[in-house]
Amino acid sequence: MNPEQFLHWLEQIYNTSEAEIDCEHLQAILPAFVDFEIGGGNLPAERLAPVRAHLAHCPDCADEYEGLRTVARLEAQGRLPQVEESLAQFEAESASADGIAVTS
Ligand SMILES: [Zn+2]
Repeated sequence: MNPEQFLHWLEQIYNTSEAEIDCEHLQAILPAFVDFEIGGGNLPAERLAPVRAHLAHCPDCADEYEGLRTVARLEAQGRLPQVEESLAQFEAESASADGIAVTS
């Protein structure tokens, strides 16, 4: 998922989400979410509110989020180059498994 897709994804969530994001969908975008945070991506806070709200009350997703953050930080330091591949694979699997087609 590239940054543009991620933003579009968030847009969809933000626009359609009276209901809460479910865990499956949230975890599908978490890698991109973490990439944005680690990379210093500049997103409006209200855009991220649904994601943060879910993380605040869902221990499962919070764990996933923390794990991804840890890996991303290590990657940023160049300490876990071999993880990058599996993480990319994970992202690809998540993107194809989440059932939401991002069309623009
Ligand atoms: Zn959750």
